[in-house]
This record gives sequence, C-alpha cells and structure tokens, in this order.
Amino acid sequence: MPSIAGGGRLFAAHRGGIWWLRRRQHQPFSSLAGGGGRGGAPHLPVLIVGAGPVGLVLSFLLTKFGIKCAVIEKNVEFTRHPRAHFINNRTMEIFRKLDGLAGDIERSQPPVDLWRKFVYCTSLSGSVLGSVDHMKQEDFDKVISPISVAHFSQYKLVDLLLKKLEGIGFQTCFPGKIGNATQDLGMESKILMGHECMFLQQTDEGILVGTSVNNGGRMVERKLHCGLLVGTDGARSTVRELAGISMEGERDLQKLVSVHFLSRDLGRYLSTQRPGMLFFVFNPDAIGVLVAHDLEHGEFVLQIPFYPPQQMFEEFSAKVCEQIIVKLVGWEPADIQVLDIKPWAMHAEVAEKYIGCNNRVVLAGDAAHRFPPAGGFGMNTGVQDAHNLAWKLGLMLNGVAPPSIMQTYESERRPVAIFNTELSVENFKAAMSIPATLGLDPTLANSVHQVINKSLGSIVPRNVQKGVLEGLFSIGRAQLSDYILNEKNPLGSLRLARLRSILDEGKSLQLQFPAEDLGFCYEEGALVAEDCGEKPQKGAKLRHSKRASREYIPSSNTGARLPHMLIRALPASSEGVFSTLDLVSGDKLEFVLIIAPLKESYEIARATLKVADEFKLSAKVCVMWPQGSASAEVEESKSELAPWTNYVDVEEVPMVSGSSWWEMCRISRKNVILVRPDEHIAWRMESDMMRDADSEVRRVFSQILCLN
Ligand SMILES: Cc1cc2nc3c(=O)[nH]c(=O)nc-3n(C[C@H](O)[C@H](O)[C@H](O)COP(=O)(O)OP(=O)(O)OC[C@H]3O[C@@H](n4cnc5c(N)ncnc54)[C@H](O)[C@@H]3O)c2cc1C
Repeated sequence: MPSIAGGGRLFAAHRGGIWWLRRRQHQPFSSLAGGGGRGGAPHLPVLIVGAGPVGLVLSFLLTKFGIKCAVIEKNVEFTRHPRAHFINNRTMEIFRKLDGLAGDIERSQPPVDLWRKFVYCTSLSGSVLGSVDHMKQEDFDKVISPISVAHFSQYKLVDLLLKKLEGIGFQTCFPGKIGNATQDLGMESKILMGHECMFLQQTDEGILVGTSVNNGGRMVERKLHCGLLVGTDGARSTVRELAGISMEGERDLQKLVSVHFLSRDLGRYLSTQRPGMLFFVFNPDAIGVLVAHDLEHGEFVLQIPFYPPQQMFEEFSAKVCEQIIVKLVGWEPADIQVLDIKPWAMHAEVAEKYIGCNNRVVLAGDAAHRFPPAGGFGMNTGVQDAHNLAWKLGLMLNGVAPPSIMQTYESERRPVAIFNTELSVENFKAAMSIPATLGLDPTLANSVHQVINKSLGSIVPRNVQKGVLEGLFSIGRAQLSDYILNEKNPLGSLRLARLRSILDEGKSLQLQFPAEDLGFCYEEGALVAEDCGEKPQKGAKLRHSKRASREYIPSSNTGARLPHMLIRALPASSEGVFSTLDLVSGDKLEFVLIIAPLKESYEIARATLKVADEFKLSAKVCVMWPQGSASAEVEESKSELAPWTNYVDVEEVPMVSGSSWWEMCRISRKNVILVRPDEHIAWRMESDMMRDADSEVRRVFSQILCLN
C-alpha cells in the first residue's frame, strides 16, 4: 500500500505547512533551479510521476524553459494499448511548438478522408443507418487556427514525444540498468522505467519520494528527493491518494471492455466501402463501438459495455472477443489478431484541489480529472494542464514568481476540467440517444442491471442472475432485428426517421467542439480580470460559451486564448506569413504586448519593456500595422521604442471576412493586449485611458505574477 509520511509521522498533506509560512515568499524554490542544491536540498527541482502523454509533454516544456526534471514510470515498458486518438485544435497548437511535433503527427496520421465520419450501422457490412461527416472546409482552410485537429493513437503519440525528448537530451532508462544505486544523483533528463511511486515524505526542502524499482525482475527500493512533485500518474493516481486529495463527481457511469485488435482484411474493406473513425454497431447478436485507429494498417479498438458481477471481465477471452467482432463485422475476416483486452470504467470526476503539500505536490491530466471519452477531452485537457503549469513552474523555479502562483494553476484549470466533465457527460448522453431511438435505451439497461443486483443479488446464484440479465438484454436487442428495423415496419420507419433527424440536427455525438476547444477562457488566475461592472459568477463564462453556440468566436477578453490571424513580418522577409500565435515563443518564457502604431500605445510598450526588465521577465512588443503600410511609416517603431530593440513590426494579412485584427478582437486600435507565455491574454487596456504607464504596468505584472 502506498503511504505518505512526514518526518517519520503520518502526514496529512492538505493541512497548512509550517515551513512555508516561515519563508519569504518567492525564495524557496529558486535555489533549486538547475538542480545541484546544498546540504539536504534536493538535487532535482521537479519530479514527474507517470510517463503518459501529460507527464511527457510537461517534461518537454519544463526542459525547454530550462527547468531540470525527471520522470518515473511504474511500467517497465510503454503500453501499446491505444486509448486517446482524437487530438483537438488547441492541443495541436501546443504541439506545433514542441519542436514540430504537430507536423510529425500530421505526416504520420491516416489520411483525413479515412476518419472524418462516424458511421451508424447494423453491422460493418450491413445496413448503414446514417453517417455524419465531422470535417468542414474551414478546418482545411485553417480559419480559426493555424492547424487542424488530428487522429493519431495515443501510444504512437507517446513514441513521437519520446523521440522529441531524446532530441533535447532526455534518456529513457529501462530496468536492470540502475545497479545498486539508490541515490538520486544525475537523474535529471531521465525517464526511469519500472519505478513505481509508493510513498511521499515531506522534508524541509521538498518531497522525498519512495519508489519500488523493478531492477531486472528484482524489486528494490529507491528514494528520490525533489523540490516539487507533479502527479501525472493517471486516473488511479497514487500521488493524488498520497496527497490526501479526493475526487468529486460521479463514478462508474459505465464499465467497458476494450479490445485492441488487428485485421488488415477489415481495414481494407472499410477503407474502400465505408471509411470512418467511429462505427456504432447495433444488431440483435451484438452491440459495440469500433474505433478505427488506423484503417490503412487495420488497427482497431472495440469497446463493449459489460455488467459485473453477472458478466465478469475474465469471460472476455480472445476467442469470445473474436466471436463478438465477427458478429459486428457481419462476415469473418481471416486475419483477426486480438492483441490486448482491458477493462475500464467511465467516471465523471474532478479532484477537489490540484495542489497539495503546501505547493509541493501538483496534479495534472487524468490524475486531476477523469471524463467519459465522448468528445475526446481527456488527454487534450491534460496536455493543456501541462501547458498552463509549465510556464508558472518555470517562473517560480527561476525565482521570478512566488509559490502562490501555483494556486493560479488550480483556479484556471480546475473550472475548465469541471466544465469539460459536464460537456463529456452531455456528449456521452448524445451518443446514447441513438441506441435509445432504436428502442435500446442504455439507461434502461443500467436500471435493469441495478434492479437485478438489488433484488436477486444476495439470494439467487450468479449464473442464474447472468441468465436473467442476458435474457433481458437479448429481448432488448431484438428491437434491432431486420424485422423491426426497416422502412416497411411502422415502428422501424419511425425509429429510423428519428435517428436521421438526430444526425441531421447535429444532436448525436460530435467530433469537434470549437467553442470549447479554442474558446475556453480563464476567469481568475494569473491575469488582470476586466472590470465589467458586476462580478461574474464562477464558471459563468465557461457555461455561457457552451450554451450559446458550438461555434468558436474569437475573443480578446482577458483569459482567452489569443485569436489566430495570419500576419507577415515587416519589412517583408522570406519568412512568409505566420500566425499571431507564433508571436509567442515556444522556447522561452516570454510575454508579448500587441499594439497598434499609436503614440499612447508606444508609451505603454516602452513601460512594458522597462518594467519587465525590473521584474526579470522576458517581454517583446509586436506592432500590428494595417496591410500595405509603407516602410517609412514602419520605421517609426524604432524611434518610438528606443532604446528597446525587442519588438517586431508585422502587417495583417486580410482575412476572407475582410475584418482587421482589431475588428476580429472586437476592440478598437487604441487597445494593447498582453499575452502570456501560454498564449492566453493576461491583460488588455485602452491606451488613452492610462495616466501613469509605468506604475500601471508594474501593477499588472505584480498581479499576474501573484506578487501582491
Ligand atoms: C477508450 C478511451 C478513448 C479515449 N479517447 C480519447 C481521445 O480521443 N482524446 C483524448 O484527449 N482523450 C481520450 N481518452 C482519455 C485519455 O486516454 C487520457 O485522458 C490520457 O491517457 C491521460 O493521460 P495522462 O498522461 O494524464 O495519464 P495516463 O495516460 O494514464 O498515464 C499515466 C502514467 O502514469 C503511470 N503510473 C501510474 N501510477 C504510477 C505510479 N504510482 N508510479 C509511477 N508511474 C505511475 C502509468 O503507468 C501511466 O503510464 C480516451 C480514454 C479512453 C479510455
């Protein structure tokens, strides 16, 4: 059993820590940056537990920002069981800046025509009840983002991330190679496989992590001392448990068996006959959702709901799974190869808090939230957690911001997770509306199951209960027979018409959620909230964006992601056009101030560069010129901003809509926009409203960095 100890006694992680209160605010972590440390100080500033996509993205970003870290992973090798496959727009935008990861994904993923649809059918070769194409021309034209969504298996993404990490000096250490070493020297930039986090102990300088190490089959204990621990150890997070953080929400919405299998025959058939990403198959013999991870290589995952204790996971042998696959396919592919069968449970939960042990333990990814996979928000939200966390950790560990900046990670990301949980549950219900329309209400199946558990559970033998359950389910599935489900049968034709209208009206499960994917907006955190008269209710903006529309509406409100627009550097260079998002560096911690070439805005720009220097921050100014501005005009920036040279002049590339940058942002040219290293807007202001630029900018940076 994992345990948490503090100085030899059981440690309640969520109670206030004495040692923090004794220190001056922004000193404690700074001495740890870059490792080393004196006396009992940890050698490692950050230890990440869990080498899933979120832990690996975080280690990449921290390394880019000059923060030394290491990752421990309990498994001795990386899992090949694909889970996530849909990478949303915002995550792809983040991946664009991880040394071209997004480009690698685009080149390696299956062609979009093979995955743009969801197909609803009675079998993979039987009647198609309906299908929905989830890609629009705007996705290809890259109107709202410089990059499109992607379909790429999680384990392949992990492989690419490992390659990128290798490229920046990371090394993956497999078991059997640690010898007798029990110390944590020279750990930075390593991914230590076969290291399971078992206990945490609070020390004066950080966290002592007890791991159980699989050293060539022999288990040994190894203690690692770090300044800060990030738990990216997945849905059943040990770190979360050790830190005494509980989950809030609903558990066990559904239990499923996930069958990973290969069949090139089936891949070829579907590629030519009815390509798609998800296949919802309903017939009297079997029901399941098939995820086509890669049709070209015939790689699939089948999701089958199951109902314990009457149906046990152990009953799903490779043979049984093959039989189910054949029932769903409608013919027998000769080459089905079941690779792996795993049970999993669907939850809708978010951690009560993201930070524990006095800012020394942080949760991210599935460790902090677990959603139904409908809509594909799990990994995407986790990657975006890492992106939000990395720059704050970077500033804190470099001594620029105090540990209290960590609280802004929680106040920004937790509401997003709560919102995405609700959205995922809503999506799950939308997915369930199709079987319900066909007379096969899954909520009814769950109720029947509960009734059997309650009424027969203790008195009737399990095999009899199983018979009752399966009997009732097969009566339910009989609704899907050709006899009922056809246009000539009045009930069948009514059900089919309803199904078509659900699909046509976009009320079934969707693939893309632009309003939520790109439009989420932080309300409270490392930003200067706008004074709009009344204080918005917590979560109100997020809720509003969900209800209002599925469409992404560019916004320059503080907390929003900087809108994308194509721009060109001035004077004209060979760089060509690029996105406004590219104004923010992916390689260093830099703030960007976007201004129009106006006297008052130049004044704020000078103040920003000066105050950033005082705060030991990196900052850059972008002067946004209207398209076609003359070179002589553009020269003005140089004299206006002197002696500062860290600025760039750019011109707008007109959009199809004809809107200018300022029109798209729905603000006048008099505004200035301050963008954080994670491309979210920290502050905006009308430049002619400002009296004392220096002191206003000082106030702004103090607030963003939590120095007040
Ligand atoms: C069927 C299915 C489909 C999905 N589809 C999508 C999708 O399309 N898009 C999407 O965004 N999300 C999707 N998800 C969700 C996605 O898979 C998860 O959100 C994602 O894996 C979370 O990444 P993570 O790095 O936080 O955790 P994980 O990927 O779970 O990684 C955690 C790592 O920590 C390790 N670990 C655990 N405990 C310890 C310990 N004590 N010590 C050391 N190491 C430890 C684990 O071995 C593991 O490697 C899907 C999930 C499922 C089940």
